[in-house]
Amino acid sequence: MPQKKKRIAVYPGTFDPVTNGHLDIMKRSLKMFDKLIVAVAHNPDKNPVFSVAERMKLIRKATVRWNALHVDHFGNLLIDYMRSVKSGVIIRGLRAVTDYEFELQMGLMNRTLDPSIETIFLIPSEEYSFLSSRLIKEIARFKGNIEGLVPKAVIDPLQEKLIKKSKP
Ligand code: ADP
Repeated sequence: MPQKKKRIAVYPGTFDPVTNGHLDIMKRSLKMFDKLIVAVAHNPDKNPVFSVAERMKLIRKATVRWNALHVDHFGNLLIDYMRSVKSGVIIRGLRAVTDYEFELQMGLMNRTLDPSIETIFLIPSEEYSFLSSRLIKEIARFKGNIEGLVPKAVIDPLQEKLIKKSKP
């Protein structure tokens, strides 16, 4: 019997660090696709707290039993990365109208670069719709409680990073 073609989607992002909002989007994607590649963007402009390798490790720790999920990284144009992994679907999360403008611009730009690639927007559970990696870092910097907002594996490494960073 001919093998059915695998449906592969890519969820690109900075993931600095991965949050429960990201995990929510990953879970929803896994219901629709045979394979999900979470692709960590190098994004040096964003001055990430965690290195690419550290961000990948934290995602892997948070998703150990999710067999259809693969963690990778990319430093080139997303469209070129999509071609290299033979995927035609980009997954992005939409939290609120504030995300919409930027995401629309990116989605349309990617479509201009390669019309065969589609972007799918998924909405997280309401409880995560206010969550962002930036906000998590801000709360953690002031020693606020981030339990329930990020995977357990993220809590200690994030606090360590922020303590080191805040030393004069
Ligand atoms: P980027 O720098 O690409 O925006 P992020 O890690 O901030 O990287 O976000 C990656 C994707 O995940 C984006 O589409 C973003 O809108 C989405 N996202 C981030 N936080 C959440 C959340 N709490 N719920 C749903 N989607 C989210």
